[in-house]
Amino acid sequence: MSVGRVRGTHDILPEEIGRWRLIERTFRGIACRYNYREIRFPVLEHTELFTRGIGEATEVVQKEMYTFNDRKGRSLTLRPEGTASVVRAYVEHGLQTVEPFQKLYYLGPMFRYEKPQKGRQRQFHQYGVEAIGSLDPTLDVEVIDLAWALMAELGLGGLWLRLNSIGCAQDRARYHDVLREHFAGALDSMCDDCRRRFEENPLRILDCKQEQCQPQIASAPGSADHLCDACAEHFAEVRRLLDALGLSYELDPRLVRGLDYYTRTVFELLSKDLGAQDSLLGGGRYDDLVEALGGPSIPAVGFAGGTERLALVAEEHGRGDPADHGIDLFLATIGDDGLDLGMRLAKELRSHGLSVDLDHRGRALRKQMERANRLSAAHLLVLGDDEATSGRGKIKRMETGVETEVEISSAALTTYIRDAE
Ligand SMILES: [Zn+2]
Ligand SMILES: [Zn+2]
Repeated sequence: MSVGRVRGTHDILPEEIGRWRLIERTFRGIACRYNYREIRFPVLEHTELFTRGIGEATEVVQKEMYTFNDRKGRSLTLRPEGTASVVRAYVEHGLQTVEPFQKLYYLGPMFRYEKPQKGRQRQFHQYGVEAIGSLDPTLDVEVIDLAWALMAELGLGGLWLRLNSIGCAQDRARYHDVLREHFAGALDSMCDDCRRRFEENPLRILDCKQEQCQPQIASAPGSADHLCDACAEHFAEVRRLLDALGLSYELDPRLVRGLDYYTRTVFELLSKDLGAQDSLLGGGRYDDLVEALGGPSIPAVGFAGGTERLALVAEEHGRGDPADHGIDLFLATIGDDGLDLGMRLAKELRSHGLSVDLDHRGRALRKQMERANRLSAAHLLVLGDDEATSGRGKIKRMETGVETEVEISSAALTTYIRDAE
């Protein structure tokens, strides 16, 4: 009996990897142009990072985390998202003492225990940026602009933003009261989760997907109407800058995002090309998270998006590097002397930077030639007793079928093959 993969995980096979490389390369390239630097952080974190960072009342923490005790009984969690870890690393390494303003990006797998479906896995992949160290609205807009540039470069058109501001901690405390007042009379008609959220954090009611709760959610007052002067001004400036850059948006008064660390600006980026239902990525400010995780009071803004979604888009558009680029040279060998020569030559040519392969299965010459064709080898060289003795052989350019006599040395072969490119 064979062992299958864990439900909700997937293998990215060589045939698909080109799409992933395209997305990763495009994202890295754009992040680099906007002067964001890569950070890599562990897949495993202390559970407390997420209960404190993301919030006890969120769906992620309540229902979706892969949490377990290690052999010493410590509660660990497979990271369900990247922002909390980036901030943890920022605080832990005291990056603010060197330079408080840090623009960072990351790529990698995340884990959430959700119902698996097309494009949604329990081990999924995210790309994201985090700009830590400034409250300036220009930074909100730069982050959005970066996300926009990424989608445009990946060929997605009809881009627009869903935008809202949920204000600072004081605004949110007031908004909680406003929401409680709104929902109080209707709790009997709402789901169990919402009744719990009503007590713990009424903002989270706005995340509810249950049919029975939608009428109450649709008529709920918007957060942007309950901002203090400073937050209202910040939000107005974000919108003015978006207009100035020609980035179109739609105000969504009930957009709150599913994690508790968000403050002020929240946004989702969508594409009309994809039917404008699910967002491509989402993000916003998290001005209190650095402090909540033990650092100084330092504001920040960022976004994260799912790579699987983009891989599906790339597949539909037929985009991505071909998985198989072909190799420079296939060495077909006859007999022991031919094989010895082949092994030595392959090692030397590879060290010169050429991609070279042999059959490795002791098969007949005809089978080896077939293999060379299937590998899309640019050149073929047969090595047998004669070649081993004379030091000369015939290299075949597969595209034209032309054979040329060459000296069998790594220098001569490298020159010949490079000239063909
Ligand atoms: Zn405020
Ligand atoms: Zn509900």
